Amino acid sequence: MPAFQTVRGMRDLIGEEAQAFTTIISKARETAVLYGYKEVITPHVEPLELLSAKSGEEIRQRMFIFKDLGDRQVALRPEFTASIARLATTSLKNEPKPLRLFSVGTVYRYDEPQRGRYREFWQSNFELMGSAKPEADAEIVLLTNNLMKSLGLHSYAFKIGHIGVIRGILSQDGVDEKTQNAVLQRMDKKEYDEALKLVESEKCRGMLRGLLEIRGNDWLDSVEQIQTYVADYEKAKAAAENLAEVLKLVTESADITIVVEPAFARGLEYYTGMIFEIYIPGLDIALGGGGRYDKLIEAFGGEPTPAVGCAHGIDRVAIALQTQKTALAAKAEKKVAVLPITEAMKSEALRIAQGLRAAGLTVEFEVMGRKMAKALEDADKRKVDFAVIVGERELKEGSVVLKDLVKREQSTIPIDKLVEKIKS
Ligand code: AMP
Repeated sequence: MPAFQTVRGMRDLIGEEAQAFTTIISKARETAVLYGYKEVITPHVEPLELLSAKSGEEIRQRMFIFKDLGDRQVALRPEFTASIARLATTSLKNEPKPLRLFSVGTVYRYDEPQRGRYREFWQSNFELMGSAKPEADAEIVLLTNNLMKSLGLHSYAFKIGHIGVIRGILSQDGVDEKTQNAVLQRMDKKEYDEALKLVESEKCRGMLRGLLEIRGNDWLDSVEQIQTYVADYEKAKAAAENLAEVLKLVTESADITIVVEPAFARGLEYYTGMIFEIYIPGLDIALGGGGRYDKLIEAFGGEPTPAVGCAHGIDRVAIALQTQKTALAAKAEKKVAVLPITEAMKSEALRIAQGLRAAGLTVEFEVMGRKMAKALEDADKRKVDFAVIVGERELKEGSVVLKDLVKREQSTIPIDKLVEKIKS
């Protein structure tokens, strides 16, 4: 039989890579605690109807869909928001608002695999439900900023827009919602010519073309330009004003780099307000993104509930950390190997190993039954810091031999002083 491989687009994470993921996940979880987001764990498999209802054509076409043995149409989740919105309309329906929810785990999309693009990937996801205020939008941007900062990333920038600006222009010119969605999807893929072809009115096409020209590092200047540009479009103007309010809150409360792009769109169909993505220089893929979606919960049969959220692509954040050579706050815990000299010493050695672990040390116990020289050689190879050698003679005096494998020293130490000695 040939050696088995992973399914295309799916990866094994080993060693340092797995550790980087764990660190990012821990930081995301810490961020959730700091901002008061409660963690929820939802299923990987959901009804197809739920996942496809509002996600948009782009994602619908990339879902892993199958029938379960009970003939139900189900799919692997391509994102978290639909599941969280389901929760908000069922089990958490009566929870006081605002509702702040955090999730982390794998999601699945049949994307074309390449660096930073996989078919199974990890997201950390934050949703804030119940507020239509700009401070809620600001919170989502700020917590994303905090997470990136706490991971040690630098010179990243937020690309921010407002879906209401484009929709406001399109709807005032009589473009129906389905066509609006198609236009936005093409704009998301930067297929601007294709997007414009879908719009009949020349005036409207001209407006969108003009919008593409507005972008810049001075957010205030860009937002003012948008406000003037869409002055005759009531809804688009209100959207631009809302964007200005959000950005004012964000920039006045944090040190943050923002690039405003009014013609920026996102693949998911449910967005209604501010949208954003994060980038680092030299890496042309978004590390995360999110936005406001005020109609989703209602569409799922819940009370009208404004909401805003974001998802961070952990696989891509890991690439960004590598690119910027960020020293991940890996725990530099001392590693200890406990080695019994003889068979008769095994139980005692195990007991000592348990004691060291109880004191918080990482302990690898000798389970291969190797001779001492071989076991020590192996400990060296695996970068163990200390070997605790448990022999009959020392044990009679309540001691063991502690070998410092880095400094190449050894001494006999009373068992009750071991932790202190290793930690010092
Ligand atoms: P989205 O809501 O679709 O923008 O996804 C949120 C984040 O998930 C993106 O900003 C990416 O960081 C990440 N992401 C999306 N698709 C993939 C993929 N195929 N592989 C890895 N990460 C992805």
